[in-house]
Amino acid sequence: MIDLHTHTNCSDGTDTPTELVNKALAAGISILGLTDHDSTAGWQEAVAALRPGISLAPGAEISCQTSDGISVHILGLLFDPENQELTNVMEQTRENRYGRMEKIIARINAAGIDITMAEVLAQLSDGATLGRPHLADALIIKGVFNNREEVFAQMLHNKSKYYVSHHSPSPEAVIKLIKAAGGVSVIAHPMASHRGRTISIQTFGSLITAGLDGVEVDHRDHSPDEKKALIELAQEFNLVMTGASDYHGNGKLNTLAEYTTNPEQWEKLESRANARRVVKV
Ligand code: AMP
Ligand code: ZN
Ligand code: FE
Ligand code: FE
Repeated sequence: MIDLHTHTNCSDGTDTPTELVNKALAAGISILGLTDHDSTAGWQEAVAALRPGISLAPGAEISCQTSDGISVHILGLLFDPENQELTNVMEQTRENRYGRMEKIIARINAAGIDITMAEVLAQLSDGATLGRPHLADALIIKGVFNNREEVFAQMLHNKSKYYVSHHSPSPEAVIKLIKAAGGVSVIAHPMASHRGRTISIQTFGSLITAGLDGVEVDHRDHSPDEKKALIELAQEFNLVMTGASDYHGNGKLNTLAEYTTNPEQWEKLESRANARRVVKV
Protein backbone atom coordinates (compact mmCIF):
# COMPACT_ATOMS: atom_id res chain seq x y z
CA MET A 1 0.00 0.00 0.00
CA ILE A 2 1.11 3.53 -0.76
CA ASP A 3 0.35 6.33 1.69
CA LEU A 4 1.86 9.64 0.54
CA HIS A 5 0.86 12.13 3.24
CA THR A 6 1.82 11.69 6.92
CA HIS A 7 3.12 13.78 9.82
CA THR A 8 5.52 13.25 12.73
CA ASN A 9 6.55 15.23 15.79
CA CYS A 10 8.84 17.22 13.49
CA SER A 11 5.62 19.18 12.93
CA ASP A 12 2.25 18.53 14.58
CA GLY A 13 2.11 14.73 14.53
CA THR A 14 2.75 12.78 17.73
CA ASP A 15 4.98 9.90 16.53
CA THR A 16 8.72 10.22 16.00
CA PRO A 17 9.87 9.47 12.42
CA THR A 18 11.13 6.07 13.64
CA GLU A 19 7.77 5.24 15.21
CA LEU A 20 6.01 6.33 12.04
CA VAL A 21 8.14 4.07 9.83
CA ASN A 22 7.62 1.12 12.20
CA LYS A 23 3.87 1.64 12.35
CA ALA A 24 3.65 2.09 8.58
CA LEU A 25 5.48 -1.18 7.99
CA ALA A 26 3.18 -2.94 10.44
CA ALA A 27 0.16 -1.41 8.65
CA GLY A 28 1.32 -2.93 5.35
CA ILE A 29 2.59 0.28 3.74
CA SER A 30 5.29 -0.34 1.14
CA ILE A 31 5.84 3.31 0.14
CA LEU A 32 5.49 5.99 2.80
CA GLY A 33 5.33 9.71 2.05
CA LEU A 34 6.74 11.74 4.94
CA THR A 35 5.26 15.23 4.67
CA ASP A 36 5.70 17.32 7.79
CA HIS A 37 4.46 20.89 7.62
CA ASP A 38 7.09 23.24 6.16
CA SER A 39 9.96 20.98 7.23
CA THR A 40 12.29 18.22 6.11
CA ALA A 41 13.64 17.73 9.64
CA GLY A 42 12.34 14.15 9.89
CA TRP A 43 13.88 12.76 6.69
CA GLN A 44 17.18 11.62 8.15
CA GLU A 45 15.68 9.72 11.07
CA ALA A 46 13.02 8.17 8.83
CA VAL A 47 15.65 6.96 6.35
CA ALA A 48 17.67 5.47 9.21
CA ALA A 49 14.57 3.60 10.41
CA LEU A 50 13.83 1.97 7.02
CA ARG A 51 13.79 -1.81 6.80
CA PRO A 52 13.21 -4.23 3.94
CA GLY A 53 9.59 -3.95 2.83
CA ILE A 54 9.15 -0.22 3.23
CA SER A 55 10.59 2.63 1.22
CA LEU A 56 10.36 6.34 1.85
CA ALA A 57 9.12 9.13 -0.41
CA PRO A 58 10.59 12.11 1.44
CA GLY A 59 8.55 15.30 1.26
CA ALA A 60 6.91 18.22 3.02
CA GLU A 61 3.46 19.78 3.18
CA ILE A 62 4.06 23.40 2.37
CA SER A 63 1.68 26.07 3.67
CA CYS A 64 0.55 28.49 0.99
CA GLN A 65 -1.99 31.24 0.62
CA THR A 66 -3.77 32.41 -2.54
CA SER A 67 -4.00 36.11 -3.40
CA ASP A 68 -7.58 36.07 -2.07
CA GLY A 69 -6.42 34.73 1.30
CA ILE A 70 -7.37 31.08 0.99
CA SER A 71 -5.11 28.59 2.75
CA VAL A 72 -3.73 25.93 0.39
CA HIS A 73 -1.43 23.03 1.30
CA ILE A 74 0.98 21.79 -1.37
CA LEU A 75 2.68 18.43 -0.88
CA GLY A 76 6.18 18.39 -2.31
CA LEU A 77 7.80 14.98 -2.75
CA LEU A 78 11.23 13.79 -3.90
CA PHE A 79 12.76 17.27 -4.03
CA ASP A 80 16.34 18.21 -3.15
CA PRO A 81 16.25 19.14 0.58
CA GLU A 82 19.28 21.36 0.11
CA ASN A 83 17.65 23.57 -2.49
CA GLN A 84 18.26 26.99 -0.99
CA GLU A 85 15.16 28.79 -2.21
CA LEU A 86 12.80 26.07 -1.06
CA THR A 87 14.47 25.72 2.35
CA ASN A 88 14.32 29.52 2.75
CA VAL A 89 10.59 29.54 2.04
CA MET A 90 9.96 26.79 4.59
CA GLU A 91 12.14 28.47 7.20
CA GLN A 92 10.34 31.78 6.71
CA THR A 93 6.96 30.10 7.21
CA ARG A 94 8.18 28.28 10.32
CA GLU A 95 9.27 31.64 11.77
CA ASN A 96 6.03 33.40 10.82
CA ARG A 97 4.10 30.77 12.75
CA TYR A 98 5.44 32.18 16.06
CA GLY A 99 4.04 35.71 15.68
CA ARG A 100 0.81 34.24 14.40
CA MET A 101 0.55 31.95 17.45
CA GLU A 102 1.02 34.95 19.75
CA LYS A 103 -1.89 36.68 18.02
CA ILE A 104 -4.15 33.64 18.41
CA ILE A 105 -3.17 33.37 22.09
CA ALA A 106 -3.96 37.08 22.63
CA ARG A 107 -7.45 36.55 21.21
CA ILE A 108 -8.03 33.54 23.44
CA ASN A 109 -6.73 35.42 26.49
CA ALA A 110 -9.09 38.30 25.65
CA ALA A 111 -11.93 35.80 25.88
CA GLY A 112 -10.86 35.06 29.45
CA ILE A 113 -8.98 31.80 28.90
CA ASP A 114 -5.57 31.69 30.50
CA ILE A 115 -2.91 30.17 28.24
CA THR A 116 0.64 31.33 27.54
CA MET A 117 3.12 31.01 24.68
CA ALA A 118 5.47 29.11 27.02
CA GLU A 119 2.77 26.52 27.70
CA VAL A 120 2.21 26.07 23.96
CA LEU A 121 5.92 25.80 23.20
CA ALA A 122 6.25 23.14 25.91
CA GLN A 123 4.12 20.91 23.60
CA LEU A 124 6.55 21.28 20.70
CA SER A 125 9.43 18.87 20.05
CA ASP A 126 12.84 20.45 19.49
CA GLY A 127 13.01 22.17 16.12
CA ALA A 128 9.49 21.15 15.11
CA THR A 129 7.13 23.33 13.06
CA LEU A 130 4.71 25.13 15.40
CA GLY A 131 1.00 24.83 14.66
CA ARG A 132 -2.47 25.13 16.12
CA PRO A 133 -2.37 21.48 17.29
CA HIS A 134 0.31 22.44 19.82
CA LEU A 135 -1.97 25.13 21.21
CA ALA A 136 -4.73 22.52 21.28
CA ASP A 137 -2.49 20.18 23.28
CA ALA A 138 -1.69 22.95 25.79
CA LEU A 139 -5.42 23.66 26.26
CA ILE A 140 -6.05 19.93 26.77
CA ILE A 141 -3.36 19.75 29.46
CA LYS A 142 -5.03 22.70 31.21
CA GLY A 143 -8.29 20.76 31.22
CA VAL A 144 -10.12 23.23 28.95
CA PHE A 145 -10.81 20.49 26.37
CA ASN A 146 -10.48 16.70 26.14
CA ASN A 147 -8.88 16.13 22.73
CA ARG A 148 -7.68 17.94 19.58
CA GLU A 149 -10.91 17.23 17.69
CA GLU A 150 -12.87 19.03 20.38
CA VAL A 151 -10.52 22.04 20.45
CA PHE A 152 -10.66 22.42 16.67
CA ALA A 153 -14.44 22.00 16.55
CA GLN A 154 -15.04 24.61 19.24
CA MET A 155 -12.16 27.03 19.16
CA LEU A 156 -9.42 26.59 16.55
CA HIS A 157 -11.21 25.91 13.25
CA ASN A 158 -10.52 28.23 10.29
CA LYS A 159 -13.81 30.10 10.64
CA SER A 160 -13.38 30.75 14.36
CA LYS A 161 -13.04 34.31 15.72
CA TYR A 162 -9.72 33.23 17.20
CA TYR A 163 -8.28 32.20 13.83
CA VAL A 164 -5.30 34.10 12.47
CA SER A 165 -3.55 33.08 9.26
CA HIS A 166 0.21 33.24 8.83
CA HIS A 167 1.89 34.84 5.88
CA SER A 168 2.79 32.14 3.36
CA PRO A 169 3.94 32.04 -0.26
CA SER A 170 1.54 31.61 -3.16
CA PRO A 171 0.86 28.02 -4.25
CA GLU A 172 2.05 28.88 -7.78
CA ALA A 173 5.44 30.03 -6.44
CA VAL A 174 5.79 26.91 -4.30
CA ILE A 175 4.87 24.56 -7.16
CA LYS A 176 7.59 26.19 -9.28
CA LEU A 177 10.13 25.98 -6.45
CA ILE A 178 9.41 22.28 -5.88
CA LYS A 179 9.85 21.64 -9.60
CA ALA A 180 13.08 23.66 -9.68
CA ALA A 181 14.28 21.51 -6.76
CA GLY A 182 13.62 18.41 -8.89
CA GLY A 183 10.51 17.26 -7.03
CA VAL A 184 6.83 16.79 -7.73
CA SER A 185 3.86 18.68 -6.30
CA VAL A 186 0.42 17.50 -5.28
CA ILE A 187 -2.31 19.74 -3.91
CA ALA A 188 -3.45 18.34 -0.55
CA HIS A 189 -7.16 18.01 0.36
CA PRO A 190 -8.19 20.72 -2.14
CA MET A 191 -11.91 20.35 -1.49
CA ALA A 192 -11.94 20.07 2.29
CA SER A 193 -14.70 22.68 2.37
CA HIS A 194 -15.66 22.13 5.99
CA ARG A 195 -12.24 23.46 7.01
CA GLY A 196 -12.77 26.88 5.46
CA ARG A 197 -13.02 28.42 2.01
CA THR A 198 -11.61 26.33 -0.82
CA ILE A 199 -10.00 27.43 -4.05
CA SER A 200 -11.97 28.28 -7.17
CA ILE A 201 -11.69 26.50 -10.48
CA GLN A 202 -9.77 29.56 -11.80
CA THR A 203 -7.12 29.16 -9.10
CA PHE A 204 -6.90 25.48 -9.96
CA GLY A 205 -6.18 26.46 -13.54
CA SER A 206 -3.37 28.72 -12.44
CA LEU A 207 -1.82 25.95 -10.30
CA ILE A 208 -1.90 23.61 -13.30
CA THR A 209 -0.22 26.27 -15.43
CA ALA A 210 2.45 26.64 -12.72
CA GLY A 211 3.22 22.92 -13.11
CA LEU A 212 1.10 21.09 -10.54
CA ASP A 213 1.66 17.33 -10.94
CA GLY A 214 -1.11 15.80 -8.91
CA VAL A 215 -4.20 16.14 -6.80
CA GLU A 216 -5.05 14.39 -3.57
CA VAL A 217 -8.44 12.85 -4.33
CA ASP A 218 -8.90 10.21 -1.64
CA HIS A 219 -8.75 11.97 1.71
CA ARG A 220 -11.08 11.74 4.70
CA ASP A 221 -12.05 15.41 4.40
CA HIS A 222 -13.56 14.91 0.92
CA SER A 223 -17.19 13.99 0.35
CA PRO A 224 -18.10 11.54 -2.46
CA ASP A 225 -19.25 14.47 -4.64
CA GLU A 226 -16.01 16.35 -4.04
CA LYS A 227 -13.98 13.27 -5.01
CA LYS A 228 -16.00 12.90 -8.17
CA ALA A 229 -15.35 16.51 -9.16
CA LEU A 230 -11.62 16.08 -8.50
CA ILE A 231 -11.42 12.89 -10.57
CA GLU A 232 -13.02 14.72 -13.50
CA LEU A 233 -10.59 17.59 -13.11
CA ALA A 234 -7.58 15.26 -12.87
CA GLN A 235 -8.66 13.40 -16.00
CA GLU A 236 -9.23 16.58 -17.96
CA PHE A 237 -5.80 18.02 -17.08
CA ASN A 238 -3.80 14.79 -16.91
CA LEU A 239 -3.02 15.20 -13.21
CA VAL A 240 -1.89 12.28 -11.08
CA MET A 241 -4.53 11.23 -8.53
CA THR A 242 -3.34 10.32 -5.06
CA GLY A 243 -4.93 9.04 -1.89
CA ALA A 244 -3.46 9.34 1.58
CA SER A 245 -4.21 9.27 5.27
CA ASP A 246 -2.79 12.62 6.46
CA TYR A 247 -1.91 10.63 9.57
CA HIS A 248 -0.90 12.67 12.66
CA GLY A 249 -0.43 9.93 15.28
CA ASN A 250 -2.65 10.34 18.35
CA GLY A 251 -3.45 13.90 17.38
CA LYS A 252 -6.12 13.07 14.81
CA LEU A 253 -8.59 10.30 14.04
CA ASN A 254 -6.85 9.54 10.69
CA THR A 255 -5.31 6.05 10.64
CA LEU A 256 -2.34 5.02 8.49
CA ALA A 257 -3.31 3.82 5.00
CA GLU A 258 -6.98 4.67 5.51
CA TYR A 259 -6.70 6.05 1.97
CA THR A 260 -3.96 5.01 -0.42
CA THR A 261 -2.52 5.74 -3.86
CA ASN A 262 -2.86 3.37 -6.77
CA PRO A 263 0.61 2.02 -7.79
CA GLU A 264 0.15 3.14 -11.42
CA GLN A 265 -0.61 6.67 -10.29
CA TRP A 266 2.46 6.60 -8.04
CA GLU A 267 4.68 5.46 -10.90
CA LYS A 268 3.40 8.31 -13.02
CA LEU A 269 4.10 10.78 -10.21
CA GLU A 270 7.55 9.43 -9.38
CA SER A 271 8.58 9.47 -13.03
CA ARG A 272 8.00 13.24 -13.10
CA ALA A 273 10.63 13.84 -10.38
CA ASN A 274 14.21 14.35 -11.42
CA ALA A 275 16.09 15.00 -8.16
CA ARG A 276 15.55 11.66 -6.45
CA ARG A 277 13.55 8.46 -6.22
CA VAL A 278 12.16 6.65 -3.18
CA VAL A 279 14.73 5.67 -0.58
CA LYS A 280 15.00 2.00 0.37
CA VAL A 281 17.46 -0.16 2.27
P1 AMP B 1 -1.87 25.26 11.34
O1 AMP B 1 -0.82 24.65 10.48
O2 AMP B 1 -1.31 25.86 12.58
O3 AMP B 1 -2.80 26.18 10.60
O4 AMP B 1 -2.76 24.05 11.88
C1 AMP B 1 -3.35 23.19 10.95
C2 AMP B 1 -3.21 21.78 11.44
O5 AMP B 1 -4.25 21.51 12.35
C3 AMP B 1 -3.33 20.76 10.32
O6 AMP B 1 -2.16 20.00 10.24
C4 AMP B 1 -4.42 19.87 10.71
O7 AMP B 1 -4.04 18.53 10.58
C5 AMP B 1 -4.69 20.18 12.15
N1 AMP B 1 -6.13 20.05 12.36
C6 AMP B 1 -7.10 20.67 11.66
N2 AMP B 1 -8.32 20.27 12.09
C7 AMP B 1 -8.08 19.37 13.08
C8 AMP B 1 -8.92 18.58 13.93
N3 AMP B 1 -10.24 18.66 13.83
N4 AMP B 1 -8.33 17.75 14.82
C9 AMP B 1 -7.00 17.68 14.91
N5 AMP B 1 -6.16 18.39 14.15
C10 AMP B 1 -6.69 19.23 13.24
ZN1 ZN C 1 -0.90 18.89 10.58
FE1 FE D 1 -2.97 19.88 5.23
FE1 FE E 1 -1.30 17.13 6.43
